[in-house]
Amino acid sequence: RTLQVLDDRISGCRACPRLVAWREEVATVKRASFREEDYWGRPVPGLGPADARIAVVGLAPAAHGGNRTGRVFTGDRSGDWIFAALWRAGLANQPTSTHRGDGLELTDVRVCAAVRCAPPDNAPTPAERDTCSPWLARELALLPRLRVVVVLGGFGWTALWPVLGRAGYPLPRPRPAFGHGVETTLVGPRGPLTLLGSYHVSQQNTFTGRLTEPMLDAVLTRATDLAGG
Ligand code: SF4
Repeated sequence: RTLQVLDDRISGCRACPRLVAWREEVATVKRASFREEDYWGRPVPGLGPADARIAVVGLAPAAHGGNRTGRVFTGDRSGDWIFAALWRAGLANQPTSTHRGDGLELTDVRVCAAVRCAPPDNAPTPAERDTCSPWLARELALLPRLRVVVVLGGFGWTALWPVLGRAGYPLPRPRPAFGHGVETTLVGPRGPLTLLGSYHVSQQNTFTGRLTEPMLDAVLTRATDLAGG
């Protein structure tokens, strides 16, 4: 299987009734400022090359961001933050991401989310997280050079453990608590894999100063150092 095949399969998933209803309702009602646009209204696949050594795992698409544009983190303020940071880190060819076809290309990084459909109030349920986790597992399995996972927020941090456990990584007990800059390395069947925690790039963190650009840059610099080592 290739990432393209996986992306196509993810895009057709309807496993979570609440999220299917919400993503499609948002795509029908739309936000007034995007009224002329055709919303994607489906699960949002990941973005980035199969030879990526770094994965960035977010929470879920935004209703009027990824759920509108059909590309992860594209078209909302969270995306403004993460793509600008990836560009500063040398992992993206441009600092902005407005729509599919805007010329954005990622190098050495695959960006995805723990849950692929936009949830009401940006809050998937634990059951929805678990239902979606096989997609994340398959995506990570299709990145043979993966060395580092940058996890944006505690939701993704929690989602990742069972995914890695099923992939054969021995999990630490107790699990390391999520925090910004927290780092832990697991050694599994495909060698070492380092998890790096970062506060999520959501507005509730970036507007309040809980997450600053230097803080995010430091995590991505650490990720590129680890990936290249
Ligand atoms: Fe499918 Fe994941 Fe969307 Fe649920 S959240 S419908 S599992 S893609």
